[in-house]
Amino acid sequence: MTAKSAARPAPVALFISDLHLQEDMPRTAAAFFSFLAKHASGVAQLYLLGDIFEYWAGDDDLSPFNMRVIDALHALAHDGTEIFWIAGNRDFLAGSTFASMAGLTILPDPFVLQHPSGSLVLTHGDAMCTDDIGYMQFRAQVRQKSWQDTFLAQSLDQRKAIIAGLRQGSREAQLGKADYIMDVNQAAVAALFSATSTRTMIHGHTHRPARHQFDDGGVRTLRYVLPDWDCDCAIPRGGWIALDENRGLARINFDGTSLNDDA
Ligand code: MN
Repeated sequence: MTAKSAARPAPVALFISDLHLQEDMPRTAAAFFSFLAKHASGVAQLYLLGDIFEYWAGDDDLSPFNMRVIDALHALAHDGTEIFWIAGNRDFLAGSTFASMAGLTILPDPFVLQHPSGSLVLTHGDAMCTDDIGYMQFRAQVRQKSWQDTFLAQSLDQRKAIIAGLRQGSREAQLGKADYIMDVNQAAVAALFSATSTRTMIHGHTHRPARHQFDDGGVRTLRYVLPDWDCDCAIPRGGWIALDENRGLARINFDGTSLNDDA
């Protein structure tokens, strides 16, 4: 694997997801701030594709840590980068107050990014994990406005306690689940390509970074999976995907070196 950053055309958009930002992972947060300053700065568009925060308890959860993230995003937006947000399964409660503070635009999931040379479908990815029946039922419930209104009506402390319980339950449930259940379902992927008339997809959520090429009856599709970030462990990891003006997509490591998918 060689560093090819010097030879790459300048990106017009960057895509990241699954940073799971939280106060007790300071190196990961530092890597994110460094990414914004060194790599996202000067790029026309930045797409945040979900689970940027480990959890979001509501737009009134303005801890000093959350404010640092909001301020960093707002500074980037102020400098001219358009920032877009697709909710993840952990930060889907981020609302219009958060969006306006951070200077970003919330997009629906999925969202089709129109581009002169083709279009890309962007999604967090959890909605395609249809083999996980229990999770899909939970998702359907918590994405209802009535559930969210009831949840957000509780005090911030109550909400944080409920979220802590959900996170613990989720960790325990995952231990008993087979690998394939935690990944996207191929039929759900094909259905999303078909519904959006696209052939290229970018998503996160599964923490299985890859570039999957698939031939479906002569139609070639490309599915890019973003990595999660963790710089507070023994072997730091993370990265993003860059779109250049020729519609080339490149997977980039958090140190700025590119993964040469075509080699
Ligand atoms: Mn996720």
